[in-house]
Amino acid sequence: MSDCLFCKIAAHAIPAYVIYEDDVALAFLDIHPKAPGHTVVIPKVHVAALAGLDGGRVGPLFLAVQRVARMARERLLAEGLTIGINEGRASGQTVEHLHVHVLPRFEKDGGGSIHSVVENPPKESLEAMQKKLRQ
Ligand code: 5GP
Ligand code: ZN
Repeated sequence: MSDCLFCKIAAHAIPAYVIYEDDVALAFLDIHPKAPGHTVVIPKVHVAALAGLDGGRVGPLFLAVQRVARMARERLLAEGLTIGINEGRASGQTVEHLHVHVLPRFEKDGGGSIHSVVENPPKESLEAMQKKLRQ
């Protein structure tokens, strides 16, 4: 088996508090929760980044994310959610197996919005950026 921690969790070789599982995805509680019910949702296949996941697995992975989002809303009565991926060392990714964080949010829980994770506004115009991205 690969030396990847999340591959081992996906294979049930390392225990985790699993809250949802299907053929493609596994959702389990983060070992260092930043919020009640903080969950990570992973594809069972090893890929480091979203771009590496084959198209057929992207939909099922995000359906699993949606299920976890519904669980948080319905069972934990989350008032909101922050859903995100740390991808690459620059973003703070520490486990190099693609995972989607689902963070249940509550009024005055001390957190910020996704806008607070980076402060690096572009120097070029949005038009120039559009050209660069679409070329
Ligand atoms: P990253 O910073 O790569 O986006 O997040 C990795 C997450 O995995 C962290 O929030 C960390 O707490 C969680 N984590 C690391 N090791 C384990 C583990 O062995 N079990 C579980 N359930 N979560 C882990
Ligand atoms: Zn892996």
